[in-house]
Amino acid sequence: MSFKNIFCQDRVINLFQKAITNNHLAHAYIFAGQEGIGKTLFSKELAKAIFCQHSGADACDTCSHCQRIANDHFPDLVFILPEKNSRTIKIEQLRYLQDVLHVKPMESKYKIAVIQSADKMNEESSNCLLKTLEEPPSYAIIILIVTSLESVRETVRSRCQIIRFSPLSMAVVKDILVDRFQLDTKQAEQLAYLSNGSIERAVLLSSSRALENKRWLVDRILTLEMNDNLSFSKELFDEWHIQDLEVLEEKRSQVKELILSFLLYYRDLLVCKTGEENLPIHFIDRKEALRSKSKSLSEDMLFHILKVIKTSLEQLDHNANINLLLENMITKILHLQFGRRITQATF
Ligand SMILES: [Zn+2]
Repeated sequence: MSFKNIFCQDRVINLFQKAITNNHLAHAYIFAGQEGIGKTLFSKELAKAIFCQHSGADACDTCSHCQRIANDHFPDLVFILPEKNSRTIKIEQLRYLQDVLHVKPMESKYKIAVIQSADKMNEESSNCLLKTLEEPPSYAIIILIVTSLESVRETVRSRCQIIRFSPLSMAVVKDILVDRFQLDTKQAEQLAYLSNGSIERAVLLSSSRALENKRWLVDRILTLEMNDNLSFSKELFDEWHIQDLEVLEEKRSQVKELILSFLLYYRDLLVCKTGEENLPIHFIDRKEALRSKSKSLSEDMLFHILKVIKTSLEQLDHNANINLLLENMITKILHLQFGRRITQATF
C-alpha cells in the first residue's frame, strides 16, 4: 500500500506530499472526519511516506522501513488506542506517550505518535495531552484522530493543524467491498448505500445480523401508528437484542447503529419528498414504499425529526441512560410525525 491506495482524499494527500517535499511538516495534526473512512490507514501511509528510505513523497513499500511499518514493527512510530471495552484513552497511556516521545528517534529524524479517539478524553487526559502539545520535542509529529472536532478542547485544537477527511463515495465503498472483502456485487452495493461512506460500518454490517435488523426496522417504521409508542420501543430492544448485551460499550454501539438507521430512514424520506434524484437512497430495496410514505409527511416535519435524531446521536456518547435516550427520541419523533400528544414511555 501507499498513497495510491487511499481513496477520495486527494486534497489531503497533495497537502502532505508538498509538506514532505518542502520539509514543512507540523508538530501536531488533527485528522477529523466520520468513522471508518480511512483516517488511521492514512496516518500509517503517511508515516511510511515520511520514514521511507527512498527519496520522494510516497512510500516505496519495499524498503526495510516501509515493510516494518506495514507490520507494526517500527520503533519511531507509536499508535495509542483505547483499550478493549473502553472508548477513551486513559491518562496512563498519555504518560507512556510522554516517556516515549522523550527518547530521541532511533532510526530516522522524526518520531510519530498517532492517538485514536482523541475527541473522547476526560479532563485529566486532555490536560496531560496538552502538556505534550505545548512543548513537543523538535522531532515529534503528533496526530490526533477524531470524529467530532467540536469535542476537542479549544486549547488542544489551537495547537494542531486541522485536516478534514471526506466520506468515501458509494462507488468506492462498493469497489473496496468487492475487491478486498470478496462480497458479491449486489450485496456490496446495498452495504455501500447503508454505510454512508464508511468502510468500517459496511464491513460491520456485512458480518452480523445488522442488515436484517435494519430491514426489519424500516418495515416496522413504515407501518408505525401513533399509539405504537410504548410497544415499539420494547419491540426495538427485543428485536435488536439490546437488552442481551452486558457490556455497556457494546450496548452503546448497538444503540448508535439503531439511531443511525433512523437517521438514514428519515433522510431517505426527505430525498423522496424533495425529488432530489441525484442523492442516494440508502434503503434502496424499499424505495417505492418510502416514496409513497413521503407523500404523507411535510418537508418541515422531516427536518424537525432529523434534528431530533441528530441531537440524540450527539448525546449518546455522554449519556449513561441509553434506554431512556432512545425512548425519548422515539417519543419525540412520533409526536412530530402524528402531531398530537402521545404517552410518554417510562423504563
Ligand atoms: Zn520505503
